[in-house]
Amino acid sequence: KTITAEDIKKSVKDNDVRFLRLAFTDINGTSKAVEVPTSQLDKVLTNDIRFDGSSIDGFVRLEESDMVLYPDFSTWAVLPWGDEKGGKIGRLVCSVHKTNGEPFEGDPRNNLKRVLKEMKEMGFTDFDIGFEAEFHLFKLGEDGNWTTEVPDHASYFDMTSDDAGARCRRDIVETLESIGFEVEAAHHEVGDGQQEIDFRFDDALTTADRVQTFKMVVREVARKHGLYATFMAKPIEGQAGNGMHTNMSLFKDGKNVFYDKDGEFHLSDTALYFLNGILEHARAITAIGNPTVNSYKRLIPGFEAPVYISWASKNRSPLVRIPDAEEINTRLEMRSADPTANPYLLLAACLTAGLNGIKEAKKPMAPITSNVFEMSEEERAKRGIKPLPSTLHNAVKAFKADPLIQEALGEHLTQSFIDSKNLEWSKYTQSVSDWERDRYMGY
Ligand code: GLN
Ligand code: MG
Ligand code: MG
Ligand code: MG
Repeated sequence: KTITAEDIKKSVKDNDVRFLRLAFTDINGTSKAVEVPTSQLDKVLTNDIRFDGSSIDGFVRLEESDMVLYPDFSTWAVLPWGDEKGGKIGRLVCSVHKTNGEPFEGDPRNNLKRVLKEMKEMGFTDFDIGFEAEFHLFKLGEDGNWTTEVPDHASYFDMTSDDAGARCRRDIVETLESIGFEVEAAHHEVGDGQQEIDFRFDDALTTADRVQTFKMVVREVARKHGLYATFMAKPIEGQAGNGMHTNMSLFKDGKNVFYDKDGEFHLSDTALYFLNGILEHARAITAIGNPTVNSYKRLIPGFEAPVYISWASKNRSPLVRIPDAEEINTRLEMRSADPTANPYLLLAACLTAGLNGIKEAKKPMAPITSNVFEMSEEERAKRGIKPLPSTLHNAVKAFKADPLIQEALGEHLTQSFIDSKNLEWSKYTQSVSDWERDRYMGY
């Protein structure tokens, strides 16, 4: 099942692939790519494609700006659309290396691999992840730019809707399937024009790679339908925002170590320790999982998004939910992250927090059985339920105060992340919005 250089060469021929897209991810989670014609295939397959990294966000290190792309052959995919002449585009996800061959520490994908190695040293074999990425589809304007007009007025799990949104969603699902995704669910979400498509869980690196491909497919297919797809956390005030629920489980030799058939909610002690690690570092993780100014407009009461640090099995208001599932499906569902998160950084942070929890072997606070939003402030305080950060600024402050989560990113990425977020926050605080003019112009 492993894909070799020969397999890729054959696939290029068989599919009339004319261009090779070599993809990697910057600090902000944005997919970047170097595209070369297939005449360069041999260079691609022998790690000989170079590029200037100095203009990539988070890479900035002028003295070492030359970078080399090392493709991961297992990610080979022939994209189902190509140039006008019918030639197709082949895509490989790459790791970024320095010219001396060492992995570049500023590459979020390399960093996740580093953390996964630490996990293996602790005796675990896989960190399995299932993402539920939500997004909005809006109509494209005549100028080719986004509008905030929705293509449909369907609602949650609407079955009757044969509208532009549903047609586009089906096309996205089929396109994903054609490049090897196993799509398990696709439905309209609560918000106007809001959709969710879930693909099957897999190991952390594979899933992080896939969610990047997923976003690209969603955006490109939407355009073909005259629609604009956005993964921003809260595109419309007063309506549901876009979450990226993160379902996590940990495996040892094919067995889910989070599962214990006799445990409460089928959870093992290991799962509870891991959960405690997540809860203890939740505020710093939020900076990574909710990395935009707008992310915090989603983390408010009333829209099924978490606001407080707590966990539960049935209830949907807490940060971590334990879905009703057994054996390989027993998992922790962290509900805070949104799809603007860099998936490589997010998973590195969650895994590091969870593994540290296992090392500390402490049980978490009691699960909640009632709605946290309906508790009084005193009651929440009595139970030790703290809030998630309320702004990007507060989240970054929590990140700066959490050495473990900084370790999860490593020095280079920690610095790039803080620099990038400081800049974003300072731009935001200087901007003057319509809301302010509406409210204060009469003063
Ligand atoms: N859209 C909700 C959020 O912001 C999640 C809704 C759901 O999937 N239950 O996280
Ligand atoms: Mg879902
Ligand atoms: Mg959902
Ligand atoms: Mg969910």
